[in-house]
Amino acid sequence: MSDKAVRWAKDSDGVAIVTLDDPNASANTMNDAYKQAMGEVITELEAARDELSGVVITSAKKTFFAGGNLDDLSSAGPDDGPAVFENVTEVKAQLRRLEKFGKPVVAAMNGTALGGGLEIGLACHHRVGLDARGVVYGLPEVTLGLLPGGGGVTRITRMLGIANGFMNVLAQGQRHKPQKALELGIIDELATSTEETITLAKAWIAANPEAAQPWDKPGYKIPGGAPSNPKLAAILPAFPANLRKQLKGAPMPAPRNILAAAVEGAQVDFDTALRIEGRYFVDLVVGQVSKNMTKAFFFDLQAINGGKSRPDGYDKYTPRKAAVLGAGMMGAGIAYVCAQAGWEVVLKDVSLEAAEKGKAYSEGLVAKGVKRGKVTLEKGEALLEKITPTADYNDLAGCDIVIEAVFESVELKQEVFREAMKVIEPDALLCSNTSTLPITELAAGIERPGDFIGLHFFSPVDKMPLVEIIKGERTSDATLAKAFDVTLGIRKTPIVVNDSRGFFTSRVIGTFINEGVSMLAEGIDPQTIEQASSQAGYPAPVLQLMDELTLTLPQKIRKESQAAAGDAWVAHPADAIVDTLVDLGRTGKSGGAGFYEYVDGKRVGLWKDLRSTFHATNHDVDLHELSERMLFIEAIETQRCFDEGVLETVPDANIGSIFGIGYPAWTGGVVQYVEGYPGGVAGFVKRADEFRDKYGPRFDVPKSLRERATA
Ligand code: NAD
Repeated sequence: MSDKAVRWAKDSDGVAIVTLDDPNASANTMNDAYKQAMGEVITELEAARDELSGVVITSAKKTFFAGGNLDDLSSAGPDDGPAVFENVTEVKAQLRRLEKFGKPVVAAMNGTALGGGLEIGLACHHRVGLDARGVVYGLPEVTLGLLPGGGGVTRITRMLGIANGFMNVLAQGQRHKPQKALELGIIDELATSTEETITLAKAWIAANPEAAQPWDKPGYKIPGGAPSNPKLAAILPAFPANLRKQLKGAPMPAPRNILAAAVEGAQVDFDTALRIEGRYFVDLVVGQVSKNMTKAFFFDLQAINGGKSRPDGYDKYTPRKAAVLGAGMMGAGIAYVCAQAGWEVVLKDVSLEAAEKGKAYSEGLVAKGVKRGKVTLEKGEALLEKITPTADYNDLAGCDIVIEAVFESVELKQEVFREAMKVIEPDALLCSNTSTLPITELAAGIERPGDFIGLHFFSPVDKMPLVEIIKGERTSDATLAKAFDVTLGIRKTPIVVNDSRGFFTSRVIGTFINEGVSMLAEGIDPQTIEQASSQAGYPAPVLQLMDELTLTLPQKIRKESQAAAGDAWVAHPADAIVDTLVDLGRTGKSGGAGFYEYVDGKRVGLWKDLRSTFHATNHDVDLHELSERMLFIEAIETQRCFDEGVLETVPDANIGSIFGIGYPAWTGGVVQYVEGYPGGVAGFVKRADEFRDKYGPRFDVPKSLRERATA
C-alpha cells in the first residue's frame, strides 16, 4: 500500500499502470494529495518514457474518481480567485503533459467517473468504461453551479462540437449510463469487469503506438465547425436566447459561463481555450450561487441519503407486499413506484372499476416508457403484473405495509385502516399520505399508533423526488427506520419532520402562495406577479401554481387553522382575493377557471377580467422586491418550523424546499438562502425588517433568527 494518492508500476508488457488511490478517503478527488502525487508520477513517467509502450490509468476505489474537491471549492472566498486559478491551471497543466506524453495513454475507467474524474479520462487518448449497474459518466458541475474547469469544457467542445457538447453533456450535467456515454462518444468502448478494462486498454495501446489527441494533430477541425462556420453562426445566437428563456431571469450563472467558455474557447488555440475556461470557472467558484448549490445538492443530499435522520440499530427493511388504499391521483402514482421497486402491490378502492382506473395510470406510464425505449416490453409487463386492483379488503392478506391515499377525512382514513388491519400482517407498517391532517390525531383512532407514520408524497408521484416523512407523537423509532428504508427503496429522497398542521412543506408553500396572491390585493398587475416569481427562480409562477392546487384548498386549510388558533387568528390580505374568485366560481384549473382561463383543461392565458376585478393599477413596483418577498416569507416560516420543533435539521429544510415545493435551486434551499444572503443572516434580518415595516408583521423574523444575526 502506497501512502500516495497516485502510484504507478511498469507491468511485464512495458505498460505503466497508474493507480488512483487516495489513502485518506473512500473516493478519489482532486485534492492537494492528488495534485502532488500526480505531478510526481508524471515526472517519473516522462523520465521512463523510452522504456514504456504506453500508460493505463485505473483506480483502486469502487468509483474511478469522484471529481473536484468540493470542500476546498466551497470555502473559497471572493479574494481567493487568483489562488483558485493557479490551482486549476496546475491540474490542467498536468493533464496536458499526459496527453502530450508521446506514447498512448488510456483511461481504464473501472467505475463511475463524474466531473474531474471524467476530465482525467478526457485527457487520455482512449477511454474504456465499465458496463455495470450503477456506473455513470458525466460532467455534473452545472448542477452545483460550477463548470468543468479541469479542461472538461474545452475537450468536450473539441470532441463533440459546440452544439452537441453543450446540449448533451455540459449544459444540464446529465449522468449518463455506460451505454449512453458510449453512444455520445464520451466513452470509446465498454468492458464488463475491472480486469477487462485493463485488457482492452492495453490492446488499444498495442494497436495505436503513435497516439495523440485529435486537436494536437495538424489539420484538426472542431466537429460541426468553429463559431465562424456560417451554418453554426446562423444558429449560435439562439443559444443564449434559449438559455435566458429557460432560466426566466433566475440568477444561475453557470450555464451562461459554460456556453461562453465553449464558444470563446472554440475560436482560439487549445491552451488559450484552457485559460479562458479557467477564468469562467473561477468566476463561478468565488460566487455565492455555486456555494449554495454545492451545499444543497452535494453536502445536504449526502447527509440525507447517508441516513442521518434514520435511527440506528434497525435492520434494513424491504416490503414484500404493499397495500395502497385509494386509487385516485396519488394512490395510482404510489402503486406505480412501489411496483417499480419490485414489490407486490394491492391497489384498493371502493369499486373494482375505480381500482382498475388507478392501475390504468401505470399502464399509461409503462406504454410511454416502452415507446420511448426507456423500458423493455418484458420489464414493463412484469411491473404491471405486480399491481392487483381490487375492491375487497380480503385481498390485502399478507401485506406488510399499508400506504393510505383516500379522501382527506380523519373518519374515513381511520376507518380504512381499521378494515385493512383485520387482514394485513399483524406488524405491518401503517403509512398515511395525508397532506394536512395531523398524524398524531389520525393515529389516535387506530390500534398500534407506534407503527403509524406520515408518508407525504408529492404530485405527480412518479416524477417528484421527495417524500416528507412525518413522525407522530407516538411513532416508534423502528417505524421511522422502516419508513426511511421504504422511501429510499422507491428511489425518493426522505426528509423527516415532526407533526404539525401542514407539516413543513405544505405550511411553507402556503406562505409563498399567499404572498403572491396578496400582491394582487395591492393592485399589482398579475403578469408582473407571475414574472416576479419566475425571475426568483420558482419552477411555476405563483398564480398558476395556485390554480393547479385549487383555490378551495387554502379556504379549507384556513378554516381549520382559524378554528385551531381561536383569538390568536390573524387574517391574511390574500384571503379576500381567494374568496372573491371562489364566489365567482373560479376555483382553479380543475374547475376550468381560476386566475387563468382554460380550454379543454389547457391553460390559455390569464383571465382577462382579473386586472379590472382587483383594480390592478399599481405599476410603481420593484420587480426584485416582489421576488424577494416570496423568497423571504418562506424562509421566515421555515425558521418558525425550526423553533416549533417541526424541523430538526438544515439538510431536511433545504432539500425539502427545493425537491418538494419548488424553492429555487440557485438559493441552495430555504435555510441556505438566509445564510448566503448579502451580509449573511444579519443582512437578511435587516431586509426582512424593511418588509415588516412596509407589509406587516408576517415579515417579523423570529427571535431565534434575530439572535443569530447579532451573534
Ligand atoms: P383522489 O380524490 O384523487 O383519490 C382518492 C381516492 O380514494 C378515490 O379514488 C376514492 O374513490 C378513494 N376512496 C375513497 N374512499 C375509499 C375507501 N373507503 N377505500 C378505498 N378507497 C377509497 O385524491 P388524491 O388527490 O389522490 O388524494 C388522496 C390523499 O393524498 C389525500 O389525503 C390528499 O390530501 C393526499 N395528498 C394529495 C396530494 C395531491 O397533490 N393531490 C399530494 C399529497 C397528498
